[in-house]
Amino acid sequence: MVKLNENYLKLPGSYLFSTIGKKVAAYSAEYPDEKVIRLGIGDVTQPLVPAIIQALHEAVEEMGHAETFHGYAPDLGYAFLRETIAEKDYQARGCEIGADEIFISDGAKSDCGNIQEIFSADARIAVCDPVYPVYVDSNVMAGRTGEYDEKTGTWSNVIYMPCTAENGFVPQLPEETPDLIYLCVPNNPTGTALTREQLAVWVDYANSVGAVILYDAAYEAYIAQDDVPHSIYEIPGARTCAIEFRSFSKNAGFTGVRLGFTVVPKDLKCGGVMAHGLWARRHGTKFNGAPYIVQKAAMAVYSEEGKAQLKDQVAYYMRNAKVIFDGLKEAGYEVYGGINAPYIWLKVPEGMTSWDFFDYLLEKAHVVGTPGSGFGPSGEGYFRLTAFGNYENTVEAIDRIKNL
Ligand code: PLP
Repeated sequence: MVKLNENYLKLPGSYLFSTIGKKVAAYSAEYPDEKVIRLGIGDVTQPLVPAIIQALHEAVEEMGHAETFHGYAPDLGYAFLRETIAEKDYQARGCEIGADEIFISDGAKSDCGNIQEIFSADARIAVCDPVYPVYVDSNVMAGRTGEYDEKTGTWSNVIYMPCTAENGFVPQLPEETPDLIYLCVPNNPTGTALTREQLAVWVDYANSVGAVILYDAAYEAYIAQDDVPHSIYEIPGARTCAIEFRSFSKNAGFTGVRLGFTVVPKDLKCGGVMAHGLWARRHGTKFNGAPYIVQKAAMAVYSEEGKAQLKDQVAYYMRNAKVIFDGLKEAGYEVYGGINAPYIWLKVPEGMTSWDFFDYLLEKAHVVGTPGSGFGPSGEGYFRLTAFGNYENTVEAIDRIKNL
């Protein structure tokens, strides 16, 4: 009899955000009159900017006429978008990345989850702890992570790189040698970014041990400090050891529109084989191209008008980040992040777990956040609030927390 992939059965509980969703739904059903403010899930709230809406309208109109209709998009993305990304996101920053090294997809989550398929089944992974849960979970599904220890919340075959207040939330080089190193910069959930110097340590390390860095830069648009690179390819040597993921979700509000891309440089070789060829093959076999309409909309992200409108949108969210950061500080919390990322990471009060604090905040302030332990064992004792709410709700949520 056919068996299911039993690796899936090893995954503990449900995906973090569905657990939160269920808890909030149960609370709202019990207290329907309470206005619950959600600063939990990293979804955006502001509408698409006018330049993007206009590009969408124009592309929709084209689809309505036989002469300008588009069917399947090229599997790897339209040349107009790949060339624009190569030029504006990379070459303009001095990174040597060509259009044919850019693979357009429906978002960074799919790519971060799928990339492990092109590496061997016994590749050892290293992850920042805490971090976006998709990296570990997708490797669990692939049977790469060993056994789960409920007590410690760790997988036996995963190398954890704790990022806590003690090390400034900066991952340290691991003692055991990994094959794949997931770096999420700026980090979700801690909001920490790496300086050029700090990132160079990782690039040199990966090249010296023959590891590949899987660099998730989904929050690149929020980087505010000059010494923080926007791409790993700003660091010499990264072309031979790094794959970069980008998303249009957080810089342009595409969480519901869906678009992202992955950069696989042709110089990245494992055992003499180019990872680029394998990813092209994988993408072309299992993905049928992102919609024409959406790729056209993405072009507006790079227009002068679009850039100016999106700069304001990012500033809007970062104003929220400041409200949260300053308000919590004033209320006596130990607070981190919020400078190069739309996430605020706080220490929960002594004696509480992350989930205790989640329940406390939901019941007493009717504010939803995300328990740090959901992002990895070292997230226990911490809590994440996002700056993606609207301004008025954010101010109200923080006032409520201050008044507790
Ligand atoms: N990577 C990180 C670190 C994220 O936090 C998220 C979404 O929250 C994603 C990737 C997903 O991006 P996308 O919407 O492009 O799938």
